[in-house]
Amino acid sequence: MIKLRICHLYPEILNLYGDTGNIRILQQRSTWRGFQTEVDRVQPGQELDFSDYDLVFLGGGADFDQVLAAQDLEQKRGSLESAVQDGLVILAICGGYQLLGRYYKNQTGEIVPGIGLLDVYTEAGAKRMKGDVLVELDQGIRAEIDDVGARPGTLVGFENHSGRTYLGPTVRPLGRVLKGGGNNGEDRCEGAWCKNIFATYLHGPFLSKNPHFADLLISRALARRWPGTTLAPLDDRLEYQAHQVIKDRLTGFW
Ligand code: GLN
Repeated sequence: MIKLRICHLYPEILNLYGDTGNIRILQQRSTWRGFQTEVDRVQPGQELDFSDYDLVFLGGGADFDQVLAAQDLEQKRGSLESAVQDGLVILAICGGYQLLGRYYKNQTGEIVPGIGLLDVYTEAGAKRMKGDVLVELDQGIRAEIDDVGARPGTLVGFENHSGRTYLGPTVRPLGRVLKGGGNNGEDRCEGAWCKNIFATYLHGPFLSKNPHFADLLISRALARRWPGTTLAPLDDRLEYQAHQVIKDRLTGFW
């Protein structure tokens, strides 16, 4: 039986604004398709082999917690890097996103080293970026999502971060910011993706109002060990109504 194996990194220290809900959504959308799921909650100091997993999740975190996570992530870099080369999917939110980059310079000016899986860097700004965000999906991702039926070409979520993240040439943004701050409030980019690594500033939990993106992650995560697996369509009317509420709120439709 098809089984989605998820590694939840640092659930106690990287879990802001309900980010752990993303794990529940990935599990439930897999169960609704008849797949089994297995979730390992991994704490700092725990040994593991990332090749045992299909998807790794990192949530958001306060500056202090990110220092703890960064120290442990450095110990896990080798195994994570080779699993990513082999197609492991990673979803990282906010603080977790920042730690996948080259470094995060936090509010105190401390440089928190990232593991450099993403060619990005982050530096804290004076003002936090907070509020609802509307993003137009990057064409590369949208084309893949559209294959599974008429889905919105947007992402919605809630941001709350002081970090400003800047992308290098080997990384694509998840999309263009239509409303809100996004990566840095300057270049109208939000999030980052490269190979099967997907990172975003969107909390919410992120996948709750973006089921199309949840299915993209599940499809890619299963493709490595279960090639050709298709996802039966689900009744996502409620999720897309929630998606539309945020869009309407940001575009002034009510
Ligand atoms: N501490 C980081 C920042 O403020 C990440 C915050 C978060 O994960 N929401 O940018």
